[in-house]
Parts: sequence; C-alpha cells; structure tokens
Amino acid sequence: VKGYLGEIKKNAQLNAFNEVFESEALQNAKLVDDRIKAGTAGKLAGMVIAIKDNICYKGHEVTASSKILKGFNSIYSSTVVERLLAEDAIIIGRCNCDEFAMGGANETSYYGPVKNYADKTRVSGGSSGGSAVAVQAGMCHAAIGTDTGGSVRQPASFCGVVGLKPTYGRISRHGIIAYASSFDQVGPITNSVEDAALLLEVMAGPDDYDSTLSREPVPSFSINIQKPGKKKIAYLQEAISSPGVDGEVKDTLVKYIDKLRDEGHTVTPIAFEQLDYLVPTYYILATAEASSNLARFDGVHYGYRSPQAEDLQSTYKRSRSEGFGKEVKRRIMLGTFVLSAGYYDAYYAKAQKVRRLIREKTIQILNEYDFILVPTAPEPAFKLGTEEKDPVVMYLSDIFTVQASLTGVPAISLPAGNNSQGLPLGLQLLTKHFHEQQLLDFAKYFL
Ligand code: GLN
Repeated sequence: VKGYLGEIKKNAQLNAFNEVFESEALQNAKLVDDRIKAGTAGKLAGMVIAIKDNICYKGHEVTASSKILKGFNSIYSSTVVERLLAEDAIIIGRCNCDEFAMGGANETSYYGPVKNYADKTRVSGGSSGGSAVAVQAGMCHAAIGTDTGGSVRQPASFCGVVGLKPTYGRISRHGIIAYASSFDQVGPITNSVEDAALLLEVMAGPDDYDSTLSREPVPSFSINIQKPGKKKIAYLQEAISSPGVDGEVKDTLVKYIDKLRDEGHTVTPIAFEQLDYLVPTYYILATAEASSNLARFDGVHYGYRSPQAEDLQSTYKRSRSEGFGKEVKRRIMLGTFVLSAGYYDAYYAKAQKVRRLIREKTIQILNEYDFILVPTAPEPAFKLGTEEKDPVVMYLSDIFTVQASLTGVPAISLPAGNNSQGLPLGLQLLTKHFHEQQLLDFAKYFL
C-alpha cells in the first residue's frame, strides 16, 4: 500500500484519482496482514484496487466526476465493493472518469482530464480513464471500471492494459451510478488475464438487488485457465479496408491474424451488414436510458442544489443547469428527444428493433466462430482536447466496442504492442454469452 501511495503522489499530475483513501488503506492493509498470518484471509488478500468514481462505497464520497454529486456520500456499498472487501481486497481510492461515464477520453470530467502515462499530451481514453491510467502507471494492482459502450475496453487499449467487459447480467449493478441500464456492466482493468479472471469470479454471480442478473453458475475462472485448442476466429473485414481505421492499428490486426494462422487457428474475414447502424443504435438507446436515469438528479434528493433556487421549478432548472456538464446535457436532450411523443417510434422503437437484429446477427456469427477479433479502437490515444471539438467524431470512434454492449456478449481488450510513437494499441475478442472462460483461456494464450 505504501508503495502504491508513493506512486500515486509521484504521478499526481496524471489526475487519475478523485480521492485517495490513504489512512484507511494503510489501516486495512494491517487488518488484512493479520488475517493472512492467521490463515483466514480471502482470495484477494493484499490486492490493492482502485475503483471508478461511479461505484458506491459506504461512507465515501461518490461523484461520477460530476459537479452535481459533489459532496454526496454513499450510504451503502455496491455489491461489487462488498464482494471485493469480503475477499480482503484493499481499496486505495476512487478514480477519475468521464462525467456519468459519458465519453471516451475522460475529458468530460468535472475534475479535468486524465493524462496518458505513455504520453502526457494524450488522453487516457474513457470513460474509465482514471482506472486505466492507475493500472498503467503502477498506482494500484488492479482497477474496477464500468463499461456501457466500451468504457473499460477502450481506455485499457489506450493504456496498454487488459480490460474485460463480462456478459450483461454477470456482475451486479447494485450501487453503480446508472448511465444506460440495459448496457452498463462492471469490469476489471488489470495487468494480466489471470487477475481479470480472479476479479471476475469474485464480483460475478446472483444478487437479490439486481434482477437482471443471470443464475448461470460462476466458474473459478482463474483456476480453470488452460491452453485452448485450435479455434475458429472471424475478423471484421472493414477493420482492414475502412479508411477510418489508423494504418498502424490495421497493421497490428494483420500481424496477429498471421500469427494465429501460423499457429493453426482458422481465421476468416467476415462482413457485418449492420456495421453502420452500431453507433447510431447505441447512441439513441444509451441516451434515452440516460435521460431517464439522470432525472433523479433534481437538486432535491442528491448532491448539488443551486444557491439561487427559489421554488421547485427553479430548484430543478438551476441545479441541473449548473450541476451538469455540457456533454451530459447534450445526451439528456438527445435522449429526451428520441423518447418524446411523435419521435418515439421513429427513433427509440426503431433502434430497439435494430438492436434485436444486431444481436441476432452477432449470435449467428458466434455460433459459427469461437471469437470475433477486432481492434478495440480505430486509433491509438489521441491528443488532449479532441473531444471538445467534435462529439460526433468521438461517438464514431466507439464503432468496435458497442457491438458487445448492444448484444450483451463478453469482450476483452488485450494489449497488442505499441505503435511507432510508443503509444499502446489494443485488440479485442468477443465471444458468446457466458463463455468468459473460453475468452480468458484464449486471451491468456494470445498475450
Ligand atoms: N464512449 C461511450 C459513450 O460515451 C462509452 C461510454 C461507456 O462505456 N460508459 O457512451
């Protein structure tokens, strides 16, 4: 703990943490140490973990990196925090993220952007940017993020670490500040596949507080990891042919395809007909859900209330106007629009149908192939300040991550070396619902 606290201080300019639980972590380390000596310690004894600042931890501030929640203290712990603590993990602090997890660069945070440790003029990725950089820069052993449309995988790829989004319904969302409830999943960000497997098995499994959870048994993923046999892998042809994908990202994908073929796996190019609909469908549905989820931040129940508030109307209006940032407001307006009478059928209902088609087609591919292989992001970490300029360009860069989110299948981002400028690149594997073991086995071997 002391070692990590030292690294956190040394790297303060990266802005990865919104708060460090210094004295508490030191104290807990002593308690865990006693349990280790007594032989009663849990599976994560001594594992120092950072959590994204949208995960509730009893008695601690939780802000989702928004002004509107500044000063709000959680009165209960999320199920994931309870399960981590029950296995003797030590939580070292809460990490910076995009405001309400909306973004892909960690630049929408009220607390300012997170800088990439590989190049401090570049973004960390997002929305779990602080969590990814905390692992990248050695400020903790592992971190927990949330992934709605890529927020664990994309920052992991920008930072050269492992990011896993489990199957929707694997890990409880109880105590996670909701962005888009039919997409949100908690996921680990780690240095190794084994750590991702271990954290998954600790956090996963039924929970009375989240009715969307599956009763599917949770295997001991970390113990079960074994070398996989020969696999059938499909890769997206467009990832190589599209002009929107960075040249070195393409080269990396080709290099790995060749390597897999050399090793005897079958690797086949496929076309995904609905590719152009992935991003629009995601943004219609995610913003619709967000506009509803964020209605609770009204200046009455939680966090910030405008000092200028005079009556109920102005309490709502001023608290929300002053408390939410620009990107969050944009999404609340977009989501409210697609849900409004007269537009509901044209946008929201239609997007629901397209989501179904995307899901069916994806499942069909995954019945034929063991994995889909794609880059995690079309480019490496970009320069700080890009998101400010053009949100649509930012949305489009989610092209490879939202497929797993729309369909609920598990996906993992794996470090695939650096480009010529020394920036990390990531490749992503998707597999069938609840086949995380197969994903982890192959990921371990892939690295
Ligand atoms: N970049 C995507 C978005 O802005 C994904 C965010 C996330 O997964 N939380 O919605």
